[in-house]
This record gives sequence, structure tokens and C-alpha cells, in this order.
Amino acid sequence: MTAHDIAQDYLKTGRLAALPDGHFIDGKTTQPSNRKMESFDPGRAEAFAEFSLGEETDMDLAIASAETAARHWRQVTPGERCRILNNVARLFRENADRLSVIEVVDSGKTLAEAQGDIQSSARLFEYYAGAADKLDGRSVNLGPAYTAFTVREPVGVTGHIIPWNYPTSTFARGVAPALAAGCSVVAKPAETTPFTALVMAELLCEAGVPAGLVNVVTGLGADIGARMARDPRIKQLTFTGSVSTGINVAQMAAPNVTRLTLELGGKSPLIAFSDADPEKVADGAYWAIFSNSGQICSAGSRLIMHKAIRDDVLAILGERAKSIRTAHGLTAPDMGAINSELHLSRIKAHVEAAKGRGAHLLTGGDVTVDADTGKGWFFQPTVIADLEPDDPAVQEEIFGPVLSVQNFDTEDEAIQLANGTEFGLIASVYTQDVSRAMRVASAMDCGQVSINDYWAGGLELPFGGNKKSGYGREKGWEGLDAYTKVKSITISNAS
Ligand code: NAD
Repeated sequence: MTAHDIAQDYLKTGRLAALPDGHFIDGKTTQPSNRKMESFDPGRAEAFAEFSLGEETDMDLAIASAETAARHWRQVTPGERCRILNNVARLFRENADRLSVIEVVDSGKTLAEAQGDIQSSARLFEYYAGAADKLDGRSVNLGPAYTAFTVREPVGVTGHIIPWNYPTSTFARGVAPALAAGCSVVAKPAETTPFTALVMAELLCEAGVPAGLVNVVTGLGADIGARMARDPRIKQLTFTGSVSTGINVAQMAAPNVTRLTLELGGKSPLIAFSDADPEKVADGAYWAIFSNSGQICSAGSRLIMHKAIRDDVLAILGERAKSIRTAHGLTAPDMGAINSELHLSRIKAHVEAAKGRGAHLLTGGDVTVDADTGKGWFFQPTVIADLEPDDPAVQEEIFGPVLSVQNFDTEDEAIQLANGTEFGLIASVYTQDVSRAMRVASAMDCGQVSINDYWAGGLELPFGGNKKSGYGREKGWEGLDAYTKVKSITISNAS
């Protein structure tokens, strides 16, 4: 069945066929638990399925299974790991239609966005398949008395706590390098998006990943996520989510001195100088804030513009924002739904507070529904103009389709505004002056900078944050560092 057929069937029946229930532990789906939780379709604000609420014993079994599997996997040749990971990529592509529709119904995003996520997930497995047999150490010259070299060893069992905004690609960007490096995996998807991780784990096994190497336990973060974070058998914990939960997870992992990668979101700036093309700036800002309904850690949620181009950019951007069609992700809208009712209420509270402070809203500003069905959790594309640097709409991550606009006169002021939050994930600079672009890029306190584009780059480049956006890098070659530990070996050459 094509994605279109699966989508039509779902839109008619409100059900998706053959969704996994139970957890995925030791190479098979477990019996469904008696404790269940409903999963909602955000585009309809209706429950469409139930999933098992994991308990501490489920997490314990999953970690035990991963521990056994890790001992075997580190003995598998790098060439064989490479072959299996390439198989995974192929199977993800073959199952892209089904995976992407499940992702739309579970997360609220558009089908085009979900299809893009599945392709990126496949690419991540291909990329790290290519790395599996290239994880070399180096030879170190200590003079004739010694022969010295380093080896990269797998860290062992790795834990992955996954957010709801990119359930498939966040799963893939942690699991693929972990497997390439010789590690095993226990993953916990977010409670509002449990299904694609389970389907992907089944596909991994079908591709030849040995039983027990990748386990998925569904349920509440406070129960099983916390259980994972505290477990001394987890040697690396990769967490993506909010700052407060990230800090909590780091505190729980600290007594075991567990290695951590934290990806905690941002309030990323798009800086546009007076020589930038207003059409290009408006287009960049549009995609930066309205993709995935703004629910992206690296969303361009602040547009920082030179006063000379402010009016031109806002005229173009305002018109485009007003013409956005928000609707169920399977009906080809421009923008999909907000992932949960709780999160919709958070976005609304941020915007209501801004209105209460007298903010100048260029467009949007309220919750809405799918116009065809009168249902769903949606938020209007919103642009708030001319904000002061200390305004909460500038400082706080809203994680929705809400753009905060700031204005400047000088380059120094632009840099100060751009760096002036507690986050430091990404930044982009629009200017025709290469020297200025490089000066500003180097002054940005963040993990990645794009010039004359918002999301230039790809999964071949490392990705991660500074300041409260977290630490550690995923994607790219650096994405392997979290899953390997370097050992130095020195041989005395004395006879
Ligand atoms: P969250 O941080 O609470 O959840 C993220 C993940 O952590 C989920 O899998 C969740 O089950 C798990 N979790 C929750 N409590 C846990 C605990 N005590 N121990 C271990 N794991 C736990 O995020 P949220 O409440 O779903 O969203 C709130 C805010 O987080 C958003 O408004 C947004 O600002 C931010 N967020 C950021 C990202 C990102 O990509 N960086 C993704 C999702 C959410």
C-alpha cells in the first residue's frame, strides 16, 4: 500500500492497521501490558490507539538484554556491522510509506515532513554504516623506546531518551552511531509518540541486528525514563528534550558518572543585515519558524533585523504567514498540528502573556482547528514584532509557530542580541558581505552557523549546543565520540 492508500484508510476509519503493542525487548514484541495509555492523533484531537505503559521491570529486562547483546556485538567484525546497518537503511526506505503515516498520526506533523524524517533516518544508518569499518585509532610517536597507539572501544549499553518532535530521526541519530561503534541500545520514546520507535526496532531485527541489541520500552518519562537514567549498566545516556528534564536526567546519572549527551533546545536567531535580500530573508524566516509547526529545537524563533530592511521583510513574511493552511497532516496542509493539548496550552500561555504585555502581533496569536473537520490542536502562525531583548517572548523557548522579531542598528548590537539568551544551538546570518558573515559567525556562541540560508548543512555535520542548549555532538563523525572510548596502548621496545 502506498502512503496515500494508508492515509485514506486511516482518514476513513480512524485506525492504523498492525500497530505494535507491548515493548520490544530481546528481539521480540512483549505481551501487551495491562497498564495502557492512549495515543492521540493531534490533527483530530482523538485517541487512535493504546500502547503499553512500561514498568521498572520492563526497563530492567531491556537493559539486561542489551548488556548481554553488547558483549556479542563488540566481537562482530566492523564489515559485518556495516552490512547490517546498510540493510536497515534499505528496510526503512522500503517501509517509508507505513512509517511516515504512523508518524503523522502520532506526532501531528505533515506527511511531507514525516517522509523527509524517514529518509533522513535511512541516511543516518547509511552514513554510520560507512563509519563502522573506519573507526581507527592512531599511532603515536614516542621515539624508539616505545610503540604506542590508540584504539576506540565501544562504551557498552547506551540509553536513548527520545522527544516527540522528531521521533524517527532522533531515534536514528542516536541508534545508528551506537550500533556502528559496537554498542547496544535501550530506547524510550516520548509518551505522545511511542509507535515509530517500536516499528523501527522490528525493522532493525529484520535487517539482521541481533536480538537484544536494540530494545524499546514505551511509557512515562518519570517512571521508566528515570529508571534508565539511574541504572549503572547504562554507560552513555543520550537525551533530547527540555532543559529542566535534561538537568534532572543529568542529576540522576551523576552518581554513576554516566556519560551524557544533552540536546535541550534553543531560541535560535536569524540575523539579517541591511544588504540582505528581503525576499530571501523572509523565505528563510518562514521555513525556520513554521516547519514542523515550530516544534524544532533549532527553529529560527528570533528574527533579528537591521532597521533598514525590517518593513520590507515583515510585509512579505506577514503575507505568507497569513496564507498558511493549517490542517491534518495527511491532507497536505502547509503546517500540521501541535503535538499535544498540553503543549498547545503552553504555547497559548506564552502568546497570551505577550499580548498582556502589549506586544505588537503582526499576525496569528491564537489556537485554531482544522477548518475542514473543526477538530485538532493547532496554533496560528504568529509573528510578534519589535520586541525588547529582555522580553520573555525573546528569552523563553516557546516551541511553536511563534516568531519574535528584534531590530538593530549596528553589527555589535546584532551580535549582542543574537547571543543574548541562555541558549546557544544554531544561528544564521544573511548578508552579502563575506567578511561580515565570517566575523558574525565566529562571534556566535552556538554549535552551528548557516550563512545566507537557515538550515544549511546536513547529517554529515556535527550538531549540538552551547550554554543551556546542552553539550555533546550528534550527527557527523563527531556523533560517534559519545559511543566510543579511547584507550592508549604502549609497548616497551626494550629487549
Ligand atoms: P520533556 O523534556 O519532558 O520530554 C522529553 C523526553 O524525556 C520524553 O521522552 C520524556 O518521556 C522524557 N522524560 C520526561 N521526564 C523524564 C524523567 N524524569 N526522567 C527521564 N526521562 C524523562 O519534554 P516535554 O515536556 O515533552 O516538552 C516540554 C518542552 O521541552 C518543550 O516545550 C520544548 O521546549 C522542549 N523540547 C525540546 C525538544 C528538543 O528537540 N530539544 C524536544 C521536545 C521538547
